[in-house]
Amino acid sequence: MKSPIPRYLNLILDAVRETDGGEVADYIPALAKVDPARLGVAICTTTGRCYQVGDNAPFSLQSISKPFTYALALEESGFEAVSEIVGVEPSGDAFNELSLEADGRPMNPMINAGAIAVNQLINGSGSSVSDRIDKILGFFSALAGRPLTINKEIATSELDTADRNFALAHMLHSFGIVDDDPHDAVVTYVHQCAIEVTVSDLAVMAATLASGGIQPVTGARVIGPEAARIAQSVMTSAGMYDYAGRWMTKVGIPAKSGVSGGLMGTLPGRMGIATFSPKLDSTGTSVRGREAFAYMSRHMDLHLLQGNNYRVPGVRSIHEESDKTVITLQGYVNFTVAEEISSTLLREAPASSRVILDVSRVTGFNAIGRKIVKEQLRRIREEGAQVVLYDPENRITDMDYSDGTRMDEVDTL
Ligand code: GLU
Repeated sequence: MKSPIPRYLNLILDAVRETDGGEVADYIPALAKVDPARLGVAICTTTGRCYQVGDNAPFSLQSISKPFTYALALEESGFEAVSEIVGVEPSGDAFNELSLEADGRPMNPMINAGAIAVNQLINGSGSSVSDRIDKILGFFSALAGRPLTINKEIATSELDTADRNFALAHMLHSFGIVDDDPHDAVVTYVHQCAIEVTVSDLAVMAATLASGGIQPVTGARVIGPEAARIAQSVMTSAGMYDYAGRWMTKVGIPAKSGVSGGLMGTLPGRMGIATFSPKLDSTGTSVRGREAFAYMSRHMDLHLLQGNNYRVPGVRSIHEESDKTVITLQGYVNFTVAEEISSTLLREAPASSRVILDVSRVTGFNAIGRKIVKEQLRRIREEGAQVVLYDPENRITDMDYSDGTRMDEVDTL
């Protein structure tokens, strides 16, 4: 039996295939050689199941590399040090604009100025250009779960025409933001942009950010949750440059586009998404990629800020039996779910003097979810009931109540 998902992904490609318009980027001459008809899509869940249809040939990451290098810099140096050279505010400008904060820092790491500044942090301030590039390539390979390579022709071609990026680097050097030799800063940046991936690679790289830094296929922790979260935060506000507001309103998926025609999106806790189609609109975003994301958001209900993503009933059932009340919980218990459990238990107070809380169907608790559920139980106990826990998978982990007493457990229901 086959999965229906690839067929569904093909429907998405069919829906956008005829969308016309846009131009292949030619300001980097080597990019202009691509076949404009290429079209591919891939998704990878944070549980590591990946699907791909259409074109799966390699393309250079270009600006899609920026959130990943930013995440690496955060991992190596921490948010405070990185913030000294680049901000986290949307610029509302094009990718190659020199948008600076009042103190001279680039507005964010998604515009070229910010990405060039971030580069110098990789592998420590004394690093050679080649060690820095190796570090970035190794990190991107760990994200993809296979060894990636740099397209040297594209890197050289971009360097030949990189006047604007050299100008940005020199300007940042004059502000004291870029400490490195400005030429070196651009060389590293251009090589990072020329790393090649397929849509399959890109979806799993995105899923690694979406899962808080764990590569969902290899299971390796590639970066910490904070770096993954901050990189996605900046993608949300600035990943689509001067289109960011319209993108969040319409599509609602944190995303990063690149002038090669790639587009990557992350849905935290859910999946990574990647499309490839080389013709670009005036903001430098793939025309058909943009349409495919809009289609997926609409038809798959993917908008990040859509309320029903988070509506999970935490109480599966409350059974009144002759001598006991069995309360069965389910799903992942975070604050929202715990609040719902707590208010259900207040509304439907257990009738029996023996209460069993069955958490065998709970997939996990976060700290605040656990705290609230335990506190609610302690209060039920305070009202005079005997409260016991059925937790065969050891989900609660911490059995102490806030008053120092311990939860009682049963082995069977
Ligand atoms: N390497 C490209 C540049 O700096 C990246 C631009 C982009 O993909 O938006 O011009």
